[in-house]
Amino acid sequence: MNYGEIKKVDIANGPGVRVSLFVSGCTHHCPGCFNADTWDFGFGKEYTAGTQEEILEALSPPHIAGLTVLGGEPFEPDNQRELLPLIREVRSRFPEKSVWMYSGYLFDREILSTLPAGEVLPEPPVWVPYRSAHCEVTDELLSLIDVLVDGKFIAAEKDLSLRFRGSRNQRLIDVQASLSAGTVTLWQG
Ligand code: SF4
Repeated sequence: MNYGEIKKVDIANGPGVRVSLFVSGCTHHCPGCFNADTWDFGFGKEYTAGTQEEILEALSPPHIAGLTVLGGEPFEPDNQRELLPLIREVRSRFPEKSVWMYSGYLFDREILSTLPAGEVLPEPPVWVPYRSAHCEVTDELLSLIDVLVDGKFIAAEKDLSLRFRGSRNQRLIDVQASLSAGTVTLWQG
């Protein structure tokens, strides 16, 4: 996995002062994407064990509220596999800090789903076919995340007044509450 940037003081992508990791690689290609350079899985620098330690070190000060992972697309299966050890370690070392992730995939239809890639659900039309991002590490990854901001950026739905998201269709999902309830439960922050 490659990554474009690590922000060690970020107040835009979740509550409080956070560390943010922007991973590379995204197959959604949303029109109007604010970060198109990161569509390329080879963009930026290689993510190494040293990168993980750098992130963990940046998370250690008491005023840091948590980690946010965005991109690019953290839920591309190859990125999920690379991110799992980091998220496990964050949970182990900093259980009091929150973990947020952003994804263009839909939580209930494409991340929890085990649909074959490219298969279309028999549901009302959407702007692209649903694709499953579920892989062998997804369930564990979800078990370690507090909030998932899901849905592709849609330029026509853009609203600068929104907190922690760019377009109105995107949802701030309380992942643990949703998994417990068996239905999408929005973050009440
Ligand atoms: S999911 Fe995010 S990074 Fe990927 S194209 Fe859409 S806005 Fe850009």
